[in-house]
Amino acid sequence: MENHCQCCIVGAGPAGVLLALLLARKGVSVKLLEIHADLNRDFRGDTVHASTLEILDQIGLAENLLELTHAKMRGVRINTPRRSFDIVSFSRLKTKFPYIAMMPQEIFLNYLLQEAMKFENFEVQFSTAVNGLVEKDGRVAGVRAKQGGDTITLHCDLVVAADGRFSKLRKMAGFAAQVQTPPMDVAWLRLPSKPEDVEHGGAFYIADGRLCVLLMRPGEWQIGYVFPKGDFSEIKKAGIQAIRDGIARTVPWLRDRVDLIQDFSSLHLLSVKSDRLEQWYKEGLLLIGDSAHVMSPVGGVGINYAINDAVESANVLTGPLLDNRVSPKHLAEVQRRRMGPTQSIQRVQGVLQKNIVARALKNQEFDLPLIAKILLKIPVLRDIPARIVALGISRVRIEDP
Ligand SMILES: Cc1cc2nc3c(=O)[nH]c(=O)nc-3n(C[C@H](O)[C@H](O)[C@H](O)COP(=O)(O)OP(=O)(O)OC[C@H]3O[C@@H](n4cnc5c(N)ncnc54)[C@H](O)[C@@H]3O)c2cc1C
Repeated sequence: MENHCQCCIVGAGPAGVLLALLLARKGVSVKLLEIHADLNRDFRGDTVHASTLEILDQIGLAENLLELTHAKMRGVRINTPRRSFDIVSFSRLKTKFPYIAMMPQEIFLNYLLQEAMKFENFEVQFSTAVNGLVEKDGRVAGVRAKQGGDTITLHCDLVVAADGRFSKLRKMAGFAAQVQTPPMDVAWLRLPSKPEDVEHGGAFYIADGRLCVLLMRPGEWQIGYVFPKGDFSEIKKAGIQAIRDGIARTVPWLRDRVDLIQDFSSLHLLSVKSDRLEQWYKEGLLLIGDSAHVMSPVGGVGINYAINDAVESANVLTGPLLDNRVSPKHLAEVQRRRMGPTQSIQRVQGVLQKNIVARALKNQEFDLPLIAKILLKIPVLRDIPARIVALGISRVRIEDP
C-alpha cells in the first residue's frame, strides 16, 4: 500500500493527538499512526493541567472536555508522621482553571481524537507499528509500518515522532541524548477511594524512608510507591505483604483497604528516566514530547510539556506545511522555543529529586529543607511551585487559533 500526506505523526499520545488536531483544523493533511489498537492504557498519567485547559479554551474545547469524567486537584500536600506542609495550592493562581483536572488519559485523548476526526484531511490508523524511515536524497521522506501482516509505506513532507519514552524513531534516526539518573523508581497501583478519605487532591506521604504519592482519580487513588532506583527485585523478594504493610504504615488511613492489593500483577513498574536530545530534528523529521525529552515524574509535568511541544510545533509549522516549504530552519525554530523550558524544568526536577525525594527515601525523620520552608511563607514566592506545575516555566499559546 502506498500513501501520501503532508504530515505523518507517529504516536497517539498527548503530543501526537493534539498536534494532529491543531494541524488538521488548519487544513494540513495529517495521518496519525498508533501501534496500539486503541488509546486505553493503564497508568499513563491523568493530569490535565491549567495550561492545557487554557490552550483548549482558545479553540473552544475546554468547556466540553470538563463535562467528561474528572476530579479536580486543587493542591498538593506533604504529610509526615509529625507535620504536614501545603507545598502547592493552585487556587490562588491567576487562571480560569485554578486546578489540575484528573481525567483518565484515555478519555482526554479520545475527546481530542473525535475533534480531529471531524476534519476530512485527517486520518488515524491504529494497530500500525512504525518500523522504518523512508529516506530520499538524504532527507526523511516518510515511514514504513507494519499493519497486521502488511507493510505499508507512507510518503510525506514531514514526519513527526511523538512515539514516547521508548521512541523507535529516535533510535532509527540515530539521535544522542543527555541522560540524568533520577534516584528512584516507582511502582504504580490503584486503591478505591471513599467519601470519608482525609485527602481531596494530591499528596505525598513520607515515613520511615518510604514515600507514597497519592493522586486522586474519579472513584480511586492512583498510588505511586517510590523506592530507591533498582530496588524492585529486593521488593519483590520481600513479597506483596511487605508492600501492603509499607503503604499502611506510610498512609495509615489506607490500612482498611491494602488487602485489595492481590499480587505483583496489581503493580506497574515505572523505571524512572530523564533525558533530553541535543538536537530534535533532521531534514524531514521532528521529535517532540517524550521522544525528544523523557521526563522524570517529579512535578507531573510530562503531559504538559508534550502538549506545549505540540502547540509550538503547530505555531511554527502550519504555514510552511500548507505551502509545502518546511525546511530544517522551521524545525530548528520549534526546538529553539522548547529547549529552554525543557532544560529549566529538568534542572528544577533534579533539585527536587536530590532535596526532597532522595531525602525522603533515607531512613531518617524527614523535614523540608529550610529554604523551602522560607519560600512557602513568603506570599510573592509561595505560589512559584504551583505556577510551574500548572502553567509551566513559560506560558504557551496557540498563535493563530
Ligand atoms: C506510569 C506513568 C505515570 C505517569 N504519570 C504522569 C502524570 O501523572 N502526569 C504527567 O504529566 N505525566 C505523567 N507521566 C508521563 C507522561 O505519560 C508522558 O510524559 C506523556 O504521556 C508524554 O506524551 P507523548 O505524547 O510524548 O508520549 P506518549 O504518551 O508516551 O505517547 C506515545 C505514543 O506512541 C505510540 N507508539 C510508540 N511506538 C510506536 C511505533 N513504533 N509506532 C506507532 N506508535 C508508537 C505509543 O503507543 C503511545 O501511544 C507518566 C508516565 C508513566 C509511564
